[in-house]
Amino acid sequence: MDLPDVKAIVTGAARGLGREFARQLVAAGASVAAGDINEGGLAELTEEVRSCSGRLHAAKLDVTQENSAAGFVHAAVDALGKLNVLVNNAGILRDGVLAKPENGWTRKMPTSQWRQVLDVNLTGPFLMTREFVSAVYQAETSPAVIVNISSVTRTGNRGQSNYSASKAGLDALTRTWALELAEYGIRVASIAPGVIETPILLNITDEALEELKASIPLARFGTPYEVWLALKFIIECDFFTGRAIEVDGGSIV
Ligand code: NAD
Repeated sequence: MDLPDVKAIVTGAARGLGREFARQLVAAGASVAAGDINEGGLAELTEEVRSCSGRLHAAKLDVTQENSAAGFVHAAVDALGKLNVLVNNAGILRDGVLAKPENGWTRKMPTSQWRQVLDVNLTGPFLMTREFVSAVYQAETSPAVIVNISSVTRTGNRGQSNYSASKAGLDALTRTWALELAEYGIRVASIAPGVIETPILLNITDEALEELKASIPLARFGTPYEVWLALKFIIECDFFTGRAIEVDGGSIV
């Protein structure tokens, strides 16, 4: 698919990777429906791409809510016409170990901490993809592409029961949807970034970040632009589906 033909939904577009994806897509001539719970960040994005504002539709979206997901996709179709790309990017971290002994009692990960991450990182893509695919069928749009933003920690990582499980689940969905949707001309792939410099890292201590950096063969964190290059490849390469691209400086988690 050529980038100027793209009409994309990008979730979590108010900052970090999502904002970079939206900015790069618009700069390449694509149209973008940018959704996020952070309306201030969406306003900043709108300001940044002011010269191409006809090709950006920014609106509040909570990917965990069925009505919000359905309403956002409908409004995106009204604003942009036939959608052909969905980037399931919105995601959160709420790290903590499963259970740890502490002065005679056990500190446990609260169920709410588990559910919050699964809701945003796994149920969110499920709801968004269901609505997006339905819009693609209704408009008889083909080809179309879905890209899930996973993580290198999808195979498991200390302190990330909730996050790793959500990203492993997302990879399973990538494969399942690639198999189910190929006959309708819809490709589904994922990107598994390593540590990328975005505001999500504000949740991680400096000490942990230094440890992480030391474990990366290229000895640095990635940039949002480097992850965009993977997204661009997936959109443009019509023979790519059901697979993940790892953009991680060679890290082994
Ligand atoms: P970020 O925190 O900078 O941005 C995430 C965005 O998602 C925010 O704008 C936030 O408001 C939005 N969001 C959160 N909950 C939402 C909801 N319910 N509905 C809609 N939007 C919501 O994070 P980022 O680093 O840009 O991460 C983007 C994606 O990349 C996430 O899925 C993350 O798990 C993944 N990832 C990031 C890294 C990294 O090192 N930055 C590494 C691997 C994977």
